Amino acid sequence: MLKITNLTVTAQENAQEILKDFNLEIKPGEIHVLMGPNGIGKSTICKTIFNHPDYEIKKGTITYNNEDLTQLTPTEISRLGIFLLNQNPIEISGITTAELLRNVLSETTNSKVDIFEFNKKLTNICTKLNIPKEFVHRDINFNMSGGEKKKMELLQILLLEPKFIILDEIDSGLDVDSTKLVGQVLQEYFKEKEASFLIVTHHQDILNYFPNYQVHILENGKIIKSGDKSLSNNILNYGFKANIIDGSDKNE
Ligand code: ADP
Ligand code: MG
Repeated sequence: MLKITNLTVTAQENAQEILKDFNLEIKPGEIHVLMGPNGIGKSTICKTIFNHPDYEIKKGTITYNNEDLTQLTPTEISRLGIFLLNQNPIEISGITTAELLRNVLSETTNSKVDIFEFNKKLTNICTKLNIPKEFVHRDINFNMSGGEKKKMELLQILLLEPKFIILDEIDSGLDVDSTKLVGQVLQEYFKEKEASFLIVTHHQDILNYFPNYQVHILENGKIIKSGDKSLSNNILNYGFKANIIDGSDKNE
């Protein structure tokens, strides 16, 4: 499904090398968790998959079902059924979430979206996510808290139904109840759609909603260690250093 091979990426702004010979393959229905200290390059990977203009690919390939993503625009990439939930969703004035989503839906399905059906679906999703209905008629993410913005992004996922979902710290900024709600919604989505996930997180809570996943630690621009659930548990109990240096999987 998604295959990243020998990817070396620099920042356009200052030519700093962020990723070096990074490799990762995610197959249909698989969940992969990317962990690592702040500033190590996790968001860079997420954004580079979407061909973000801030980054330059110096070497390597990114393919999705054998299609070369590095040659596509973000719009074309999202048409393939890939979704990126940003770590810091931005506010966009002049267009409401409902308007944006109706346009995106008619673009991706290549047909006119019935406004009555569309509104009904949006209202149902708002109820499910405990989002005030009027939020979808506000300019995108305008005057919303960090946690509310994350839920607005999840609303987009439920409406657009992507098959490959990148979650860049969906759980940062969420309160306890919202974390539980978001976890349950993601769990249900995974079961129903058999989607694949690339999840960036610093917390175990959200991961507990997924049955099985592979964990990768990022350091020096590449994955230096991979493992299962026990690796994320060890990282969150003992820290990155302990897990990287001795290389052993501690069990409590
Ligand atoms: P993480 O998500 O793991 O916390 P990031 O991928 O956001 O880290 O950033 C990795 C490194 O690249 C950091 O040192 C950051 O300052 C730098 N960086 C990220 N994006 C840019 C950019 N657009 N321009 C310049 N430097 C960047
Ligand atoms: Mg980040």
